[in-house]
Amino acid sequence: MAIMVGPRFRFGARARFLTALGLFALICTGVEPPVVRANLAQPAGALGSATVSTESLGGEDQYAVAVAISGRLFPNGGAPVVYLAAGENYADALAAGPIAAREGGAILYTSASTLTAAVGQELIRLAPARVEILGVTSVIDDNVLDQVTAILAPTTVVERLAGSDACGTAAALSARSFEPGAASTVFVASAQSPSDAIAAGPAAARLGSPLLLVTAASLPATTAAELLRLEPDRVFVVGSPIAVSDEVLNAIKLIVPQTERVYGADAYATAAAVAARFLPLAATDVAAEVVAGATGYADGLPAVPLAAARQAPILFAQPDDLLPTPTRDAMIAGRPTRIVIAGSVSEVVRAQLVGFSDGRLTVPAPTPAYPTYDSAYHDYGEMVTLIKATEIAYPTLVHVFSIGKSFEGRDIWAAKISSNVSVDSGKPEVLFDALHHADEHLGVEQALYMLATLTANYSTDVYVHRLVNERVVWIVFALNPDGWAYDLSGGSYHFWRKNRQETGGYYGTDINRNYGYRWGCCGGSSSNPSAYNFRGPSVWSTPEARALRDFVASRVVNGVQLIKAHVTLHTNGELILYPYCYTKSALPTDMNFDDYSTFVKLAQTMAHMNGYKAEQSSHMYVTDGDEIDWLYHQYRIFSFTFELYPKELGSLTADDYPPYSVVATQTARNRGALLYLIDMAACPYQVIGKAAQYCSGAPVVTPSSGLMP
Ligand SMILES: [Zn+2]
Repeated sequence: MAIMVGPRFRFGARARFLTALGLFALICTGVEPPVVRANLAQPAGALGSATVSTESLGGEDQYAVAVAISGRLFPNGGAPVVYLAAGENYADALAAGPIAAREGGAILYTSASTLTAAVGQELIRLAPARVEILGVTSVIDDNVLDQVTAILAPTTVVERLAGSDACGTAAALSARSFEPGAASTVFVASAQSPSDAIAAGPAAARLGSPLLLVTAASLPATTAAELLRLEPDRVFVVGSPIAVSDEVLNAIKLIVPQTERVYGADAYATAAAVAARFLPLAATDVAAEVVAGATGYADGLPAVPLAAARQAPILFAQPDDLLPTPTRDAMIAGRPTRIVIAGSVSEVVRAQLVGFSDGRLTVPAPTPAYPTYDSAYHDYGEMVTLIKATEIAYPTLVHVFSIGKSFEGRDIWAAKISSNVSVDSGKPEVLFDALHHADEHLGVEQALYMLATLTANYSTDVYVHRLVNERVVWIVFALNPDGWAYDLSGGSYHFWRKNRQETGGYYGTDINRNYGYRWGCCGGSSSNPSAYNFRGPSVWSTPEARALRDFVASRVVNGVQLIKAHVTLHTNGELILYPYCYTKSALPTDMNFDDYSTFVKLAQTMAHMNGYKAEQSSHMYVTDGDEIDWLYHQYRIFSFTFELYPKELGSLTADDYPPYSVVATQTARNRGALLYLIDMAACPYQVIGKAAQYCSGAPVVTPSSGLMP
């Protein structure tokens, strides 16, 4: 099968393709706004699979991607024809995909007014007999035509092929290539839905069909005239009723009665529907590839001739860390053994392409999803996919495992992150955990952010590189998956905090009041099972707290607790809290002064980095049976609670359920502080100048020069 075109710019959220499609309005009537891009160069993939190979045809922008694809199609030059499309306004070129495939040619991009050196060099290398410049002079001006003419051999035919708009250009391309009656099938897509037109390209090529363009609301006269001239037996309209209205479909039916629509619920699903209908993988097609394109979609168009040559579909990725569901399902159904990625995708997305194809990743069991307006948050299943894909993408850095089961039997997933991750090295260790409280969703996103930071930045950021080499970081992503599922059940939030254990007819224990130091001692929890902070009928009564307890206990090696520092991620308040929680006394008899000083120094330094406020956990109110009290008292782990964004607002909804739009900023905000704690974990006492006293013989003592600016 085919090719992947990856995203090169990111929105803050998933499922934002409609926004991207909005960029392409007005195609058959006027000027198209430029495609927005940021350059997020990805490190080359080291991804391996026994059965699935990936090939990246990437580049800094769509111009470079097109050149890379052209190089792949014509490694020795010698293209018979090159179609030259405007890189920022390629609607006029949408129909050129199947034509270029039919003629064995390539598609390159140019800017509107001048030929760049890289594209010029590729044209010279290809030495085509013919160059077709697609679109009127306002799309690509004559200067480009003159430049192309000047750099190629005098025998080269350089000409402009254009209708009055993109639909007209598509009709002209068809008229040039197909005699009346020569095409029994015609594909139609909207010029305003480039992803549909691109996905239709390899299918049209396979059936020897031209691709014509309409708009969402009209069948242009030029398109209708071309249909009348071709007299095809049937027409496939690729796109949803939103992309191509039923009115337009019916207008086509008046010309060609056997007209049918091929589409899915969104751009990704439409591409998958085209693949399933026209370009399915045969079980014996062992050399199959999958070509996908991404938001921006410009990377997909030059991939059409390549996909067509392999009888492969084009599917799409998206600017996010998760593969779109239709693309994922196409991988599972097709099990391609070769995947060509046109453009760039993250290593984690690449790992999903491979993992779903070779069976290492499977669709998670259904759990409740976020409400539509917050769907960009990662639900439990998406979290599982993401962390397992990260393990596939970075097998030497990440090991994913479960520390145990929740009350309802869900796995409590965790990851170990360190260089040579399979070795138990004795390096100083740090533990992060999230979602003791089920409605504190931002904690999960912060945990996932740290996983991404420590892996994706390992090869590019010297500080991260050193920390991953010299420490072991453990992340428990969601300690309370049952409460989480309940909080999201039924499509709306339930402000649910506890787990889902039943006591005396009431559901839920506050896991963070169930730990085994001074449990229920001090009025910092409730004995009432209906209370939001019910401490449980007995200490350690929750399987979730026990799982955390047993995991931490397992990190005692040769009598030494290797975990030196810990952060539990909660919301909200923008606070960094340190023990003790059970008493308002700053220095009770169960804490020594050096530990107290170290806690304060670490908390204040981290607060300086992220703008939070550092204080003793009991400052606002006393809690007992709290995780950080137990971790400190039991193991002398420097254990902190981060109360994440926002500050206390007094509005429950705003406090508990911030919109996804804040996630990128609010998780990145804690990068420096959390990396600093990982750094200091070599010997936390170094921050009070007592490393020699406390940490002689420590496995690794890091100079404290690693402070982030
Ligand atoms: Zn909490």
